[in-house]
Amino acid sequence: MKLRTFVFNPVEENTYLLYDDTKECVIIDPGCYSPAEQAQLKEFIQEKGLTVKHILNTHLHFDHCFGINFVSNTYGVGLQAHKGDEEFLHHLPEQAARFGFHVNEENPVISQYINEGDIISFGEQTLKAIHVPGHSPGSIVFYSEEYGCLFVGDVLFQQSIGRTDLPGGDYDTLIYGIKAKLYTLPDETRVFPGHGPDTTIGFEKRNNFYVKGNI
Ligand SMILES: [Zn+2]
Ligand SMILES: [Zn+2]
Repeated sequence: MKLRTFVFNPVEENTYLLYDDTKECVIIDPGCYSPAEQAQLKEFIQEKGLTVKHILNTHLHFDHCFGINFVSNTYGVGLQAHKGDEEFLHHLPEQAARFGFHVNEENPVISQYINEGDIISFGEQTLKAIHVPGHSPGSIVFYSEEYGCLFVGDVLFQQSIGRTDLPGGDYDTLIYGIKAKLYTLPDETRVFPGHGPDTTIGFEKRNNFYVKGNI
């Protein structure tokens, strides 16, 4: 499995594109905001000759959603996300406006719900969905057991955690989920967050004091 990371929009959100030799790909959290960012994503897909199979969202805060309509309309694929965050989609323009962004298009809709334990396939790859609420009610983490990597959205960052003061957030729930569902994965598991650099489960267990202090 191959990975391409794009850093999109002024919030510096990580959009991950996973693909393999079959040339099928998935896009996790398409956050492309400007036409230039949309073109960057499109050119990469074109250059590699990829077929987009799924749009997978870890959660539905606006900074992870800017590019959903673009990808959906360009490649004819629907959004997959957890029902717990669906409500956010109804308020995307307001959410975005609060942070100074202008969104002037129809709100995206979820075409397929993702639930705890679901297996998502593309090419010869599988990703398992793990529900870790607390940053948002519907936060989902995507796990490739074969490659030992985890796409966590805003659940866990290098030496930090997602904020829990937004609607539907809950601090204790987030800490519990990280410990019960992520820290139980192998230490060498690579963690790719929604913002900032990647890390590993082992590094976070040793160095993430937001979680550690709560053991
Ligand atoms: Zn978020
Ligand atoms: Zn975010």
